[in-house]
Amino acid sequence: MKIMKFGGSSLADGGRISTVLDIVTVNHRVERVCVVCSAMGGVTDGLLDAAAQAAAGLEVFTDQARAIRTRHLEVAAELCPDDDELARCVGRLCDELEELLHGVLLVRECTPRTMDLIAGYGEQLSTTIIAAALRRSGLSARYVDGREIIRTDAAHGSAAVDFASSYELIRTHLDGDDLPVVTGFIAATAAGVTTTLGRNGSDYTASIIGAGADATAIEIWTDVDGVYSADPRFVPRAFVLPEISYQEAMELSYFGAKVIHPYTMVPAVERGIPLRIRNTLTPELPGTLIASHTSSRAFVTGIASIENVALVNVEGGGMVGSTGMAGRIFSSLAAARINIVMISQASSEHSICFVIPDRDAERAIRALEEELASEVHQKKVQQFTAERDLEIVAVIGEKMRGKPGVSGRLFQTLGENGINVLAIAQGSSEMNISFVVHRCDRERTLNAVHDAFFGGME
Ligand code: ADP
Ligand code: ASP
Ligand code: MG
Repeated sequence: MKIMKFGGSSLADGGRISTVLDIVTVNHRVERVCVVCSAMGGVTDGLLDAAAQAAAGLEVFTDQARAIRTRHLEVAAELCPDDDELARCVGRLCDELEELLHGVLLVRECTPRTMDLIAGYGEQLSTTIIAAALRRSGLSARYVDGREIIRTDAAHGSAAVDFASSYELIRTHLDGDDLPVVTGFIAATAAGVTTTLGRNGSDYTASIIGAGADATAIEIWTDVDGVYSADPRFVPRAFVLPEISYQEAMELSYFGAKVIHPYTMVPAVERGIPLRIRNTLTPELPGTLIASHTSSRAFVTGIASIENVALVNVEGGGMVGSTGMAGRIFSSLAAARINIVMISQASSEHSICFVIPDRDAERAIRALEEELASEVHQKKVQQFTAERDLEIVAVIGEKMRGKPGVSGRLFQTLGENGINVLAIAQGSSEMNISFVVHRCDRERTLNAVHDAFFGGME
């Protein structure tokens, strides 16, 4: 069986969904297919926003919910005219959604658990319509709710998967020779409470199902021709990579290439299932193959970046040789639920700097002030500040390992272009060099580094 996942960009409107139906039909003739659907483009954002408005007591959520209803009813009518049962199903889901939002308005709060419940309606709506449209084309499509086959813990917003029980459920539910059409993104706890796999999580759904069903391939269908050497929105000379390794895909996606969710590679690697990124609008193209080994000889594969980050520096003579300092710093941030994106420590141990999401900067400073109050008082540690509005850029490539001169070329390029580097980190895996620059230098940095490593290759 092959898994075919279609993202929100491939499901933007009735026309795009028709293209998806054609692609599925052609593939289903050749081998058994399992379809995984995201919400229609922009719907998850709309749902989260409607829930936030309702929690704030703002009635505007009713207009947002009505717009979601109208959009889905119109697409259902366009693809399956006169299918009253489908219109009723879509209507029922929208009624439930409106009731939930009304409940949020009444209690004036939306807990992460309720947020997950609301966010999951986008996938239920799109999948209901696509399964009905495939049945109308004569295929034996069956709607499958992701909550029946993917078990997670209760970490709402980005739940952790229980692979053993999920694989078992996938094997039993997807047995047979029909065409399962599965909601991406949503899952459930053992008690049946709805959870989600994090934003962009439908990619992850596809690979969990792929591993559970021992699929031959997992295809992620989107709106670009594959994984590019850099984000094509910022780097006009970026080009499609014919193949990259699982590790490289993981690093690129972790560092901002949102074309694939970083966790997607984990179940696929485990079972050695190849992943392919393909474009719904150009199905004749091969896309990018993600597998364990590649024949590419380039030592740098791609460049990615994460925006809206802040750099915090903890510095002071009292830190030298003092055990437990790093542990206390990072534990205090963990207790404040702040995610650390990058860490760098000079071997003098005089300072540790780390990068966090910009929105958490003030909370991080408060957490550190509390934790290190006595060290600051005794002047062992200087007062800390966060430098904001920064960008992390990462240069990634498995074949950089053991290849001298890559950093030399990188930092020479940055120097020649007058780009100021605020911090640098390289893991000992040597497949990623990351550095921090000012946000305003992002495009210049990405393009200069791209030219330095790929000049003339496009
Ligand atoms: P979908 O709706 O199909 O899940 P996404 O919007 O999540 O699609 O991901 C596709 C987008 O990822 C592309 O439109 C592109 O703008 C962006 N992107 C960022 N970096 C890269 C990259 N290196 N290669 C390809 N696309 C990238
Ligand atoms: N619909 C969800 C989101 O927008 C999941 C996905 O599209 O992959 O994040
Ligand atoms: Mg996506």
